[in-house]
Amino acid sequence: MDSRTHLSLSRTLLQEVRMLASQFQQTFGRVPSFMEVCGSHTMALARTGIKKALEGYVRLISGPGCPVCVTDQVTIDAMISLTDGSDRIICTFGDMMRVPGSYGTLMQAKTEGKDVRVVYSPVDAVRIAEQHPNQEVIFLGIGFETTIPILAAAIKEAEEKKVHNFSMWMSTKLVEPILRQLLHDEEVLLDGFLLPGHVSMVMGRKHFDFLAIEYRMPAVISGFESLHMLSAIRHLLMLALKQHAIVLNDYKSVVTEQGNNQAKYWMNHYFTFCDEAWRGIGVITQSGMDFKKEYDQFNAKIKFSVSTREPRRTKCRCGEVIRGLIDPPQCALFGKACTPLKPIGPCMVSSEGSCAAYYQYMREE
Ligand code: SF4
Repeated sequence: MDSRTHLSLSRTLLQEVRMLASQFQQTFGRVPSFMEVCGSHTMALARTGIKKALEGYVRLISGPGCPVCVTDQVTIDAMISLTDGSDRIICTFGDMMRVPGSYGTLMQAKTEGKDVRVVYSPVDAVRIAEQHPNQEVIFLGIGFETTIPILAAAIKEAEEKKVHNFSMWMSTKLVEPILRQLLHDEEVLLDGFLLPGHVSMVMGRKHFDFLAIEYRMPAVISGFESLHMLSAIRHLLMLALKQHAIVLNDYKSVVTEQGNNQAKYWMNHYFTFCDEAWRGIGVITQSGMDFKKEYDQFNAKIKFSVSTREPRRTKCRCGEVIRGLIDPPQCALFGKACTPLKPIGPCMVSSEGSCAAYYQYMREE
């Protein structure tokens, strides 16, 4: 599609969305509120200007789908304390390096001489373990259903190659339990969900049917281009106007009904459900995945003990941001004490964080 056609289609869709949103306001006497579950959507909606263009028409609330942002402080402290130990190499995704724990960051640990490395894939960490057989290589495994199969692929490689000095510290999260939690939260008022295309690619459309069947909540699976997102928001408005609760797949080029069965197989081969602590929310039962007992040899929580002090509490309101209770500028630290150069909370550090998205694309100068 050439850029002129793209622009013209975007304008048409935007007009339709605004018209439907006005109808919604006339019908229900309030602005419709939709939550984009995924951090990539948060960033894409801000970067493309859609969020700003819909101000006053549709409230787009950033949800809990940025993996760094939902990792609780005690877990981050534990990960930083893992760097203590001379024979260790800690590998992580880049976003984690600057996330503040109570007493520092992984980046600070690195500048103090600890061996902390950024890798693009956990399989790269397995390679590092092969190259350093006398050291322990620990990968910090954070992420949602999109990442968990990739973590499983790394464990499979380590198992097949008999790499015994490789392990993972798992702190993964699942989308379904947090959506259920939000829907039981009386403070969170929503008219629908913009569902993540990547997670849906793994889990399939049917996985989200519980939203419509059990909660009467419309939801639309969307891609990440501006036309995808505007189309999905238009569908959400049409469903919300008709009070029609279904889970619609608006990203059929990528997402199937059942998802990726092979990815799901490997997730369930190595990992099992576990309780996970979510930042600002607390522990949600069976909301993450960790190693099955038979794979203890790869479980860094079994192999290594960490000592953490009482977490230091800050005035960061990331917990409220990821529940959609406040927009980032409502945090008193936003843009003042907390900026991307000097972040106080993970939502300002992460490339998918809501505060970072607001700061980069929606801040009033
Ligand atoms: Fe936390 Fe900073 Fe966002 Fe405030 S602006 S909620 S301190 S990340």
